[in-house]
Amino acid sequence: MPHAHPRPATGPAAQVDAWLSDFEHALTTRDVERAAELFGDVSYWRDLIAFTWNITTVEGRDGVRDLLRATLEVTGPHGFAASEEPTEADGTTTALIEFETAVGRGRGVVRLRDGRAFTLLTTLYELTGHEEPMSERRPRGAEHGVRPGRQTWLEQRTAEFSELGRTRQPYVLVVGGGQGGIALAARLRQLDVPTVVVDRNPRPGDTWRNRYKSLCLHDPVWIDHLPYLDFPANWPVFSPKDKIADWLEMYVRVMEINYWGSTTCRRAGYDPTTGAWEVVVERDGEELTLRPQHLVLATGMSGRPNIPDVPGRDRFRGDQHHSSEHPGPDAYRGRKAVIIGSNNSAHDIAAALWEAGADVTMVQRSSTLVVRSETLMELAHGRLYSERALAAGITTHKADTLVASMPFRTLPDVQKPIWDAIRERDAGFYARLERAGFLLDFGEDETGLGLKYLRRGSGYYIDVGASELIADGRVRLARGGVRELTEDSVVLTDGTALPADVVVHATGYGSMTGWAAELISQQVADTVGKVWGHGSGTTNDPGPWEGEQRNMWKPTRQEGLWFQGGNLAQARYYSLCLALQLKARQVGIPTPVYRLPEVHHRS
Ligand SMILES: Cc1cc2nc3c(=O)[nH]c(=O)nc-3n(C[C@H](O)[C@H](O)[C@H](O)COP(=O)(O)OP(=O)(O)OC[C@H]3O[C@@H](n4cnc5c(N)ncnc54)[C@H](O)[C@@H]3O)c2cc1C
Repeated sequence: MPHAHPRPATGPAAQVDAWLSDFEHALTTRDVERAAELFGDVSYWRDLIAFTWNITTVEGRDGVRDLLRATLEVTGPHGFAASEEPTEADGTTTALIEFETAVGRGRGVVRLRDGRAFTLLTTLYELTGHEEPMSERRPRGAEHGVRPGRQTWLEQRTAEFSELGRTRQPYVLVVGGGQGGIALAARLRQLDVPTVVVDRNPRPGDTWRNRYKSLCLHDPVWIDHLPYLDFPANWPVFSPKDKIADWLEMYVRVMEINYWGSTTCRRAGYDPTTGAWEVVVERDGEELTLRPQHLVLATGMSGRPNIPDVPGRDRFRGDQHHSSEHPGPDAYRGRKAVIIGSNNSAHDIAAALWEAGADVTMVQRSSTLVVRSETLMELAHGRLYSERALAAGITTHKADTLVASMPFRTLPDVQKPIWDAIRERDAGFYARLERAGFLLDFGEDETGLGLKYLRRGSGYYIDVGASELIADGRVRLARGGVRELTEDSVVLTDGTALPADVVVHATGYGSMTGWAAELISQQVADTVGKVWGHGSGTTNDPGPWEGEQRNMWKPTRQEGLWFQGGNLAQARYYSLCLALQLKARQVGIPTPVYRLPEVHHRS
């Protein structure tokens, strides 16, 4: 709602009102030139499907012109207003805004500098006529009165579950029922889009259950909420993995998700003549063919173990496994464990093995970003996601919107000072780690964890204790690549032999593009190209600059194929974008996509 406060003639609120009114006037009179002039020399407009039916950022006035020329007529934007009292700091005025388009309602954020826009975020959150049945629109549940032959809620649920995918085709098939798949499915249920989720594991939450037993989420609870259902106030700050698994299982039930466990997607192909997929799944030993119009791969960024082909792997006589299959430390008391890798899983597993009385060596090949969990919470996450933030009126939704409002190009400048402060605060800790021989980095341009995650999704450890074990040598550190495995040791490239009873390959995961190749075809994988990263030109994220995560939550170059996933925060926030894109297509709302990116990389 537009704020009701009377406006002072000057100050942040007046500035924002004036800008929004000029912007709206330019848009409604289709004056692209005038609209572009309202942006600064250096400026960014990030749009999440409101104007572009894409997730895209344009830069500078030329970018604004280009976006508007392509989208303005169809979008029909109007009704811009600040939704909260704007704030001013260091010469930048920030305002949360609302607006409408020809097909829906939007929210966003504008930042003004010297009267012009520095950043603008526009997001669509609701389609007119397809509002979610929530709050005052919630379903009645009970139908009062009398009606012969009425079905109970349970009978309706059971009927839907048994029909969908058998006698009635789902509009959307989601392959993968981890947090990404079910967050999307919950949104699609709200939007009345018939959806089936298939997962090869028997129970929702099994991805988490199957991980090493000491695992707890590294992100605090305030960042982790799923759509519609926040964790209760007594939920621990860091969810133990089996507890989050139970939460996901409960979520599937209460969100009424059509979830087929023990169902493996074997193959999928798109038929352009019918505009539908043919997806073969194996469910409890039976092969079934589903024909959805849209196929969402929510198969996980951490689902395809990456194990380098080290010579001698078949010669090694002890236990060896990828970190994703690590059974926990119990069988390894008094045994020699060598962990290959030095990121999150490597550290967590090293600490658990050490606690269980194993003799542990970690092999570090390249540098790792390490940050103490406490410091990360205080200096990075805490401002937006914490009790402190909630007390200051920053709800999860507001925090998500503010995070989304920072275009990727601006992130390094925002992040660098935070990471400088982190390094300064924990200088002693980092010095101890370096003295132990640990190779540290803070990202190639020293911009920290968030960007490393967005660029390559790996290369860091959020320290919850293992670093001290390394710093004081209780967990030994060896440096270098692995040359080979012998019957009973790991041999490094410099010839050092590390005796081992168990070898853990904590060597990360392959790209989501691999899922498209595996389940659909190499040709479709090549058509779609690399998934994740945004063209930063850093390790594993080659340029050119894309400015948005490749292929995630938005149209791909393969008709009807979508990717959903990421951490819990991304699964929560971007599932709305993806759900609305699917809903619009289901009900025939035109969705002309602006600037479908070129494919520059295949994997
Ligand atoms: C050790 C570790 C710690 C992590 N810690 C955090 C954290 O603290 N916070 C955070 O937000 N994120 C964390 N992540 C990252 C990420 O959130 C998780 O990997 C999360 O599980 C991703 O959810 P997802 O739904 O995208 O994929 P997944 O949970 O991997 O789910 C994908 C699903 O697809 C299914 N599947 C795959 N192929 C098929 C097929 N052919 N047919 C049917 N089903 C199939 C799998 O069975 C699986 O259930 C962590 C990851 C790891 C590995």
